[in-house]
Amino acid sequence: MSEMLKIGLFGVGHLGKIHLRCIQELQSHFQLIGFFDPDDERASDIENNFHIKRFHSEQELMIASDVVDIVTPTPTHYQLAMKAIENGKHIFIEKPITSTPNEARSLLSAAKEKGIKGQIGFVERFNPAFLAIADENIEPMFIEAHRLAGFNPRGTDVSVVLDLMIHDLDIVLKLVNKPVKNVFANGVAIVSSTEDIANARIEFENGAVANITASRISLKNMRKFRLFSPKAYISMDFLDKKTEIISLSDVPNDNNAMELETALGKKYLKLKMPEIADINAIKEELKLFANAVNYNSEPTVSLQDGVLALELAYIILEEIKNNKTNNSNILR
Ligand code: NAD
Repeated sequence: MSEMLKIGLFGVGHLGKIHLRCIQELQSHFQLIGFFDPDDERASDIENNFHIKRFHSEQELMIASDVVDIVTPTPTHYQLAMKAIENGKHIFIEKPITSTPNEARSLLSAAKEKGIKGQIGFVERFNPAFLAIADENIEPMFIEAHRLAGFNPRGTDVSVVLDLMIHDLDIVLKLVNKPVKNVFANGVAIVSSTEDIANARIEFENGAVANITASRISLKNMRKFRLFSPKAYISMDFLDKKTEIISLSDVPNDNNAMELETALGKKYLKLKMPEIADINAIKEELKLFANAVNYNSEPTVSLQDGVLALELAYIILEEIKNNKTNNSNILR
């Protein structure tokens, strides 16, 4: 049965404030009972400007909530989420799920044991450009993804692989849905102590390949995804919220199809520009989290998805490290 869930918000920094506004707008799903943030100045500011109850202890807020929203720095995710699980509370955790794959796996097994629902904040799953291909039933064999952002000191404490690329790793894992066979990766730290730019080539057991580039030192922003399959080519612009689908068939099933003479005979090309829904992705992910709790269904982006993306990110980081060592050997 659907009911309004008492939600406690942990962390009211950059993203926490956005969550706060979204939760306030989701009045038929959530009752925001309060927040906790150890930063006194920030917490007073939120308390005074948003008139939301400020809790002075994690535990108090945890106990008063049905579900908790964890929008805190990644190193704190594990301990907060574990505490929530121990208290029997369902959890929404911002990405990445935790700092390490070991923590992520132990969170997953604790949640399973206690019957706790968990969702990870891979918000691109709710990007209207991605939602537009939901019915396409495509089996991509080659994927090219670019996620380029201008420099912002926020988030540079971790590699760009964990901060930005992980969104695309999750999308790629979701789309290909096959085990990873091989990973080749490179990355360079330019203005931080961790990689600011990285590229990974991921090969899957079914032969699919994904080539993913992420940068946080670009002059212009770009979030593009291109998928190639024997039946269709799809281009998604996550930033401009635009999707184009070019499908290829043996029969001219549409007047607008363009005839093409190929080595395999006549083929017909058709361009489709699906309608893009007017959706606030953060609001949508939180709404679906509430539905998963209320209707006892699996969250759209599960804890397991969070574990898989983090494990792949760590393999990429390891590969980058190995490549650096190998390169220095060559130079010597
Ligand atoms: P931020 O530094 O702006 O805010 C974090 C807040 O959490 C701070 O106010 C801090 O005082 C507070 N905090 C620290 N420990 C806490 C605790 N134990 N309990 C409650 N609050 C605590 O960081 P941010 O940019 O808002 O990022 C928060 C999380 O969201 C990170 O995990 C980050 O990776 C993720 N994030 C996700 C996306 C996305 O696209 N999904 C985008 C940005 C950030």
